[in-house]
Amino acid sequence: MNAQLDLPRLVQTSLRWNNRFHHLGARFYTPLAPQPIPAPYWVSRSAAVAKQLGLDEAWMDSDDLLQAFSGNLPISGTQPLASVYSGHQFGNWAGQLGDGRAILLGEANGFEIQLKGSGLTPYSRMGDGRAVLRSSIREFLCSEAMHALGIPTTRALCVVGSDAQVWRETPESIAVVTRVAQSFIRFGHFEHFAARRQLEPLKKLADYCLERYYPECLQASTLAGNAYANLLQTVTERTAMMVAHWQAVGFCHGVMNTDNMSLLGLTLDYGPFQFLDAYDPGHICNHTDRAGRYAFDHQPDIAHWNLYALAQALLPLIGEQSLALQALDAFKPLFAAKYHQLMCAKLGLADAPDALIEDLLSLMARDKVDYTIFWRRLSHARVDGHTTPVRDLFLDRPAFDAWMLRYSELVTHTQQGLEADLMLKINPKFVLRNYLGEEAITAARNKNFSGVSKLLTLLNSPFDEHPGFEHEAGFPPDWASQIEISCSS
Ligand code: AMP
Ligand code: MG
Repeated sequence: MNAQLDLPRLVQTSLRWNNRFHHLGARFYTPLAPQPIPAPYWVSRSAAVAKQLGLDEAWMDSDDLLQAFSGNLPISGTQPLASVYSGHQFGNWAGQLGDGRAILLGEANGFEIQLKGSGLTPYSRMGDGRAVLRSSIREFLCSEAMHALGIPTTRALCVVGSDAQVWRETPESIAVVTRVAQSFIRFGHFEHFAARRQLEPLKKLADYCLERYYPECLQASTLAGNAYANLLQTVTERTAMMVAHWQAVGFCHGVMNTDNMSLLGLTLDYGPFQFLDAYDPGHICNHTDRAGRYAFDHQPDIAHWNLYALAQALLPLIGEQSLALQALDAFKPLFAAKYHQLMCAKLGLADAPDALIEDLLSLMARDKVDYTIFWRRLSHARVDGHTTPVRDLFLDRPAFDAWMLRYSELVTHTQQGLEADLMLKINPKFVLRNYLGEEAITAARNKNFSGVSKLLTLLNSPFDEHPGFEHEAGFPPDWASQIEISCSS
């Protein structure tokens, strides 16, 4: 078969390939085609991402696209590659890593398109180059959920499955996720060249990122007009914003290694992530993370630590340590301000004393109050005046009543109360709880993908009521706390 997907309309009018990462040259990657998978089938597709890419939705039904996004049929115009990066894993220098199971097909219409789980690469190390159905569904649904929550993230166009199996803790069937982002460049791409003292590719990469993603840094007069220091500061700011969103919505990433940190401040590499059920600030969602390095409440400090690793890598370009440190100093005040702003918005207040937020969170932690349900019920209480449902979430009712009194006074007696309806637009009804993912995955293993579609619909508009889907908005069942999600995916 002459296996070039050459659908003229697709290539010429829908996807215009302009593979700029490829133009960086051979030191940055190995050119490599994805490896085919047997008898692929659709698991799920995101119409929203297809639209964003400029892909005609009707194309998404075609068998050619199924084959193309399985890695079975090359797409003309693409220049597939696996990129090389290094990184710190669990705080230790891990040396060279790289796309061990992802292939960047190229860039079309301003977005890089990557197949994850598409077979062995020179960077697969001990791995098999594949991703399993379970983790692929989780990544697909969560990236779309995060986007709908207004949190910067990579996106996902589709998941295809195959009955071929790989071994994890047990045999599992494989899948391929098509991921989409402006760029998949990670902190680890910079660390790679810095660790090898390869200044020329390091500079080339930084200049590429400045020109493409951060042109404002080239003009900046701050930080002595040093473009690389400004790059570091802007990445610091974006990362601070991203993590503030995580903390406000109760998202735990699980593996914040520097190779999983996006240079664009996007949530990247969905593995053992979790949305909090009961509020527990020290929650560890990754079963492999025994020491709790990536516990929920460590995330801001870990992000800052990771930015130090990026700063270290950029130092040869910045030249002056004091400028790098100044750039990093943006993190703490910006994170604190953004987090405060988001928490006030969740409370439906223009501003609130820090103590009101901290006291609420300690009450919630003590009584193990469900994080998402609390905020939704509080929002409804503001809209309809019925406080019983939110009060019922607490064991220590007098303590809650005392807090509620302080809150109500702020709402009624100051100018701080915002429109109650706004609370329903920041406090989601639906988040991708682990058990919801598990239910959809269990059905998908039997080729029933309706659970995945249902979740995609709910998570695409998580602030809407979606009457009839109370199970998906309810408390997690008892078995939910037994789910163990590890790095193995
Ligand atoms: P992660 O912790 O998932 O970000 O993965 C760390 C590194 O291991 C990355 O370079 C991945 O590409 C690689 N990797 C993870 N799983 C596999 C796998 N099944 N096969 C090959 N490489 C993998
Ligand atoms: Mg990774």
